[in-house]
Amino acid sequence: PKYQSVALIIGVTGIVGNSLAEILPLSDTPGGPWKVYGVARRPRPDWNADHPIEYIQCDISDPEQTVSKLSNLNDVTHLFYVTWANKETEKENCEINGKMFKNVLDVVIPNCGKLQHVSLQTGRKHYLGPFELYGKVAHDPPFHEDLPRLDAPNFYYTLEDILFEGVKQKEGLTWSVHRPGTIFGFSPYSMMNILGSLCVYATICKHEGVPFKFPGTKEAWENYSDSSDADLIAEQHIWAAVEPYAKNEAFNISNGDVFKWKHFWKVLSEQFEVENGGFDESVGKMSMVEMMKDKGAVWDEIVREKGLVATKLEDVGVWWFVDMILGSDCMLDTMNKSKEHGFFGFRNSKSSLISWIDKMKGYKIVP
Ligand code: NAD
Repeated sequence: PKYQSVALIIGVTGIVGNSLAEILPLSDTPGGPWKVYGVARRPRPDWNADHPIEYIQCDISDPEQTVSKLSNLNDVTHLFYVTWANKETEKENCEINGKMFKNVLDVVIPNCGKLQHVSLQTGRKHYLGPFELYGKVAHDPPFHEDLPRLDAPNFYYTLEDILFEGVKQKEGLTWSVHRPGTIFGFSPYSMMNILGSLCVYATICKHEGVPFKFPGTKEAWENYSDSSDADLIAEQHIWAAVEPYAKNEAFNISNGDVFKWKHFWKVLSEQFEVENGGFDESVGKMSMVEMMKDKGAVWDEIVREKGLVATKLEDVGVWWFVDMILGSDCMLDTMNKSKEHGFFGFRNSKSSLISWIDKMKGYKIVP
């Protein structure tokens, strides 16, 4: 086919990268037909191999490797940046993430004469502050895109500044920034996958014959939470890539509804046929990091017994992230700006939850 657009996805095995790799090549995707390149650090996993894209293994934190692997891609029209690196301190996060993004832009901008748009994914920490200052510096929710930057280090601000400098180098090059909250999606390689982690936790509880207890706080159990469906985020990236009215703007991206974990816990319990232990008042908040620290061998045994795709517990269970998200009150954003600019996408979070569980089961990541 004659392609109308050529995408380069950085982070193609990640939670949104995998959705972009699935959606972009579809025949009815706006801006298409799309030719798609996808970059990730590790060899291509089987669960990503169905997508008709050209896979490139490349560590973008290494400038030489980035030049050698990406400088021959001269036909890219749209760059989708959906990756990051997680270090101990936010100062280190700013350094490494800035370096990675700059390594890519320094190769793609001069080498791709037809480059039109750079789509950057950051997140709600834009308004909450970095993990190390969680709950200390946040704006008053609901968060909207016009709020000023917080007076705290934030690698999202570093990425935005590199983006703004980068697009100046080429006449007519446009940008968009996408800010999801907690993402529901599919990726056994994601550095933050709450749903995948909870499915693994439920599976381990079932295997050990113990109730599936909510590890978070009473506030997280009872109050409103929200989520951002990975396919919906991908749809917003693609919308911004092709819609003139969306250019050079930042957008929040969340499903557009709210839920309570106490209701979703019931769904999870049913899906994995495990006893719903709920929120145990007598125990209070638990540490998933502690609870799961010796469960690697148990997971290996489950994988063998149930004939699952081989995964390591440390890849599929991101326990610090579960502790963080379920350990704090969810702060909501608003989708008004997105709607005012013409993006009307939404998800029913309960249907989203169930569809991602089905997908994880379908790919034999969980039983
Ligand atoms: P992810 O962790 O799911 O995936 C990362 C991808 O990047 C993987 O494909 C991985 O192989 C690749 N990668 C990692 N290091 C690489 C390197 N050095 N070279 C090449 N590829 C590399 O990504 P994500 O969660 O979609 O994160 C993207 C952005 O979204 C981040 O800024 C993150 O903070 C933000 N965000 C994520 C969530 C969430 O729930 N996951 C929520 C809100 C915001």
